[in-house]
Amino acid sequence: MYQTLLQNITVVPGIGLALGKRLAGAGIHCVGDLLFLLPKAYIDDRVSVPIRDLREGITARTSGKVLKVEAVGMGKRRQVTIILGDDSGARVQLCFFHSSYLLRDARLSSGRGISVRGKPEWRQSSCRMMHPEWVPLEAFNGGWKPVYASVAGFAGMRVASMIQRILPLFPCTAMSSFDAVLKQYPSLARSLRLVHAPNAENPDIHPMRQAMERLRLEELLTYLHLMRGMRQKAQVAAPKWLETDSIETFLASLPYPLTKAQASVWKEIQRDLSSGLRMHRLLQGDVGSGKTWIAALSMLMAARHGFQAALMAPTSVLARQHAETLNELFSPLGGKVELLTGGLRTKERGRILGGMADGSMNMLVGTHALISEGVRYHRLGLAVVDEQHRFGVRQRWALTERGDAVHLLAMTATPIPRSLALALYGDMDLSLMRGMPPGRRPVETRVITGRGKLADGMSRMLDEGGYIYWIVPRIDEDESGASVGQRVEALQQRFPEAGVRGLHGCMKLKEKDAVLGAFAKGDCRLLVSTTVVEVGVNVSRARLIVIEQAEHYGLAQLHQLRGRVGRSDMQSYCVLLPSKDASEAQRARLGHVAAHHDGLELAELDLRLRGAGDAIGTSQSGEAGFRLLNVARDAGLIHDWHGHLPPVEPTDAMVRFWRPVAEGVD
Ligand code: ADP
Ligand code: MG
Repeated sequence: MYQTLLQNITVVPGIGLALGKRLAGAGIHCVGDLLFLLPKAYIDDRVSVPIRDLREGITARTSGKVLKVEAVGMGKRRQVTIILGDDSGARVQLCFFHSSYLLRDARLSSGRGISVRGKPEWRQSSCRMMHPEWVPLEAFNGGWKPVYASVAGFAGMRVASMIQRILPLFPCTAMSSFDAVLKQYPSLARSLRLVHAPNAENPDIHPMRQAMERLRLEELLTYLHLMRGMRQKAQVAAPKWLETDSIETFLASLPYPLTKAQASVWKEIQRDLSSGLRMHRLLQGDVGSGKTWIAALSMLMAARHGFQAALMAPTSVLARQHAETLNELFSPLGGKVELLTGGLRTKERGRILGGMADGSMNMLVGTHALISEGVRYHRLGLAVVDEQHRFGVRQRWALTERGDAVHLLAMTATPIPRSLALALYGDMDLSLMRGMPPGRRPVETRVITGRGKLADGMSRMLDEGGYIYWIVPRIDEDESGASVGQRVEALQQRFPEAGVRGLHGCMKLKEKDAVLGAFAKGDCRLLVSTTVVEVGVNVSRARLIVIEQAEHYGLAQLHQLRGRVGRSDMQSYCVLLPSKDASEAQRARLGHVAAHHDGLELAELDLRLRGAGDAIGTSQSGEAGFRLLNVARDAGLIHDWHGHLPPVEPTDAMVRFWRPVAEGVD
């Protein structure tokens, strides 16, 4: 089963090199990548309505004979229209833009029957459908149909047809090791069929739900086993680090004392480091709670005991920032941190690799370049992984494999409720750091709908010397105008003095760095960005963040974004703009972000709000790099199985499939 899943996508009939390449661009490499894209919904497509019974605005299926196919209009407005009629004399007009090829399609010649599905628009007595789906009448078979999200620019329909071509590759007898312990569920192979081809099955929602859950369990059990394995492997003797004089000197050199929360976490870490066993600790601390100082203390501990320390961050921007901060912190003690990212010049890279290999350097900060082949460590003793949820389980541990009994300190600003954290991060011990350093004011947060006042507020902020983040939901243009490019243009006109720039994940590293550099220096004071700024960017003059279509984000994520401001002792603001069609419930949910300033509290709320009543099949990966599991929705499932993990081990192929190593960063 899994061997087939892991095969290159191009083994699928009809998917050639070109198509394969385009899919790969969207992260779809192997057969399973496509097969485990589950439908986002099902539609009941069993009945065909006579044309005259089509109701305004209600998507429906109808059928008739082609009476006429013609092209009307010129240039951009050129469209193909098809007149469809039935025996009673009723007619419907089907309109297609950019579809001249339809004029030459033999299946649409006069008198041929077709079945169409679309949204009817009535004008007096004439009915029209824009871009309906269509098939020749003889090819139509009704039933429950899965609906897929679009992928790599392919419409959901196209995704559906690709998946239908994959299904036959899996005989009904295909097996998973977990089938044996999940007897109350349909088998893995059968579940895939139930989910993707419900047609052939009983169109009852219950077996489909069971099948969805079965598929999620495949991922969950594999993951939990992996965690348990990691935990066992991590139990290794390590040298005791006991000397703390230099730590005292360092603490005295800091501008402020440790907060209570920092002090107590540092105690836990010191206990680990002096215990004689390898440390594997996850530090959960809210945005701005001061995790960097904890990392600095730990790295110093390593250095003073003759070991090397390496800190890995998910983006080069963040890595550079860490290097700067740490060098500043260590300068009174004469410590030096080096920076290794993917974009370095050969000479600089050579200098750093040399220094790490011969031990003349002892502290290194970088991206996942730290775990690339060519990097040799003389005597690595501590691995710090910042924003660890951005890395996969294996990447998290990969750095520790570059030495003997390397201590691991993972850090995250996405706090999740403890019971869940125990399951999800079962390979580590947990520390929680709550509260902020003193002197920080909570970010004043508002949900607003009118944009008039907002522009005034932005002008005032810019006049006062404050910088602004403007977060948009996407890179590509669309009719809502909420893409990076469109928004940059609009804001440039409104605020010509602000040096508006745009930032998104698909930009080249150099471009990203240039834009962030300009923002840090003040050449750009209004930054339009997708959520790539979510991770740790630190510009203390930024004091206003505006988040468009805010209802699309989880509460914890909004809180993370909000953490980009409020980084100085001046008052900062966060404005949440729901889209026009946001529901009352969604607006109310945003109200929680305005009312609460504790990340953990918001995470718990999020879990309760989103965990309840989520419709079948809305698979949303993301957290912890899951394909199917959604930490919020599946919290109960995760918790239950963590407590009763059946002893059946997943095969290597299963682990390879569910936890691919290349979990994308930078
Ligand atoms: P995060 O936990 O989000 O990584 P940082 O480590 O970036 O937070 O810290 C946020 C800010 O708080 C930094 O500017 C840092 O200098 C400051 N800070 C950290 N610890 C203290 C402290 N004990 N007292 C005062 N300021 C502190
Ligand atoms: Mg941080």
